[in-house]
Amino acid sequence: MPKFTIDSKEIEFKPGQTIIQAAREAGIDIPHFCWHPALSVSGNCRICLVEVENLPKLQIACSTPAAEGMKVHTKSEKTIHAQNAVMEFLLINHPLDCPICDEAGECKLQDYAYKYSVGISRFDEQKNHKDKRVALGPNVLFDQERCISCSRCIRFCEEVAKDPELTFVQRGDHVTIETFPGEELDNPYSMNVIEICPVGALTSRHFRFRARVWDMSFTDTVCPGCSRGCNTIMGVRNNEILRIEPRENADVNQYWLCDWGRLNTTKFVNDETTRIKSPMIRYEGASVEKSELIEVNWDEAISKSSALLRDADSGESLFIASPYSTLEDNYALRKLADACGGSIAYIPCIDESFEDDLLRKADKSPNAAGLKLLGIQPIDDSLIDRIGSGKIRVAFVLNDDIARLPGASPLIQKIGSMVCIISNKNESSDNANVILPASTYAEINGTFVNFQNRIQRIRPAVATLEQERLLGEFSMSRLDKFGSHNDRWTHGHRYNARPGWKIIKLLAKALGHEFAFENSEEVFTELSSAVPLLNGYDYEAIGKVGIIAGEKVAAEV
Ligand code: SF4
Ligand code: SF4
Repeated sequence: MPKFTIDSKEIEFKPGQTIIQAAREAGIDIPHFCWHPALSVSGNCRICLVEVENLPKLQIACSTPAAEGMKVHTKSEKTIHAQNAVMEFLLINHPLDCPICDEAGECKLQDYAYKYSVGISRFDEQKNHKDKRVALGPNVLFDQERCISCSRCIRFCEEVAKDPELTFVQRGDHVTIETFPGEELDNPYSMNVIEICPVGALTSRHFRFRARVWDMSFTDTVCPGCSRGCNTIMGVRNNEILRIEPRENADVNQYWLCDWGRLNTTKFVNDETTRIKSPMIRYEGASVEKSELIEVNWDEAISKSSALLRDADSGESLFIASPYSTLEDNYALRKLADACGGSIAYIPCIDESFEDDLLRKADKSPNAAGLKLLGIQPIDDSLIDRIGSGKIRVAFVLNDDIARLPGASPLIQKIGSMVCIISNKNESSDNANVILPASTYAEINGTFVNFQNRIQRIRPAVATLEQERLLGEFSMSRLDKFGSHNDRWTHGHRYNARPGWKIIKLLAKALGHEFAFENSEEVFTELSSAVPLLNGYDYEAIGKVGIIAGEKVAAEV
């Protein structure tokens, strides 16, 4: 490999790479605003100017190709002078909005002002004033004064979303961004411009002013919106999810998320109106019409559920697995079904209209591939016929809704009894005999398998009462092992919910079957030895970016 030096450090580069690309791979950060690894080079911010020996002028690192033997200086007197000058120029008209800006705390301009600026302004004139709240589309608001004209948002729409909706208008210090006449910033990926904007010019209409970033905790997890399994960072304050952002994974979602995933995969977690708040049993009143679901404690609900299962003969029980639930939960359900001699299947979730060429997949569930690994098949006509003929005495539904089956409403009435292990109300739970409140994906450790057969970790970002109880039993350091941090365990509202595998373990115990696992990691270890493609895998092997089932080497970003 050819080599060149940056600040006397010799680094290798691939032919065709620019200085900034080679430096980034070598872990050397050259400041940049307009350059983004996934966008074309525009070279207009000039903060990446570096000194290259034997060249008369400073060069922009984002567009200068690395060359064998080249000697680059990023901290020389000339370079520092140029960085100071660019920062002074950018800050001439930039408003002092930091105390009220959503970006404060994670703003490139703010960081670079500390790192590459002299810290004083020589500008005595009036700053330019422009519009502060321009709605570019349904999800993004634009503050014209904060824009540093880097053009990242314009290039993103053109090159990644393939929907050129934004452009520069005006010239000089009057330049600003606008949508084309008659257009809105409203493509399926529009909200990515919020993160790639290096300043607080583009803000989310949903997150705006809801929290300062230093008051939030952040957890690496995975979007459950479709079988892509985009890697995300979940931002939480007071036990409420306030935003999700993309987490870089070159093999899954690069740097992006779709707007649908951002906006539709978190609300149900804190949805007071639909969350199941405690275990419930149907109380049979004087007549069927008068029957109602009443809140009970966990012991009573588990005991009632196991009694229903005990009354059913082998073959009369049905277990509905869930493509929305983790491998761990589905493995535990399969184990219980096997122990009881019941049938197990899942309801696929395909929406062809959702798929596109960038990220979105037609399978709008995160773990159908995981069910396949576990040997759990989609529900077929013969099983639906068995339900229709009234041969199912008891059905256990994990985190799904039988109403999703075609012609389901009459089917639900044909099932003798139904137990729902579920987080939010749906038609199945409305008709259930027992409801066991399950934790959502945002409250648990576990794994999803995406359409590439990539196993990826989800981690708890939001606490339940169960975790509060655990907090009393285990030290913080033990919880930390499973991904917790910050103050989420002690603030905000929490639900009386439990991970699906744990509820199923309790059910099995009530039926006389002892499942040995004590936490999600142990469930995974057990299932990995039972599933040939997962043999030898554990949470550590999955790592931050996931690992393909059947492959031994974790893919690195
Ligand atoms: S709005 Fe942000 S991303 Fe777009 S040009 Fe201005 S600074 Fe760059
Ligand atoms: S593409 Fe799928 S996984 Fe990615 S953000 Fe959208 S819904 Fe979520």
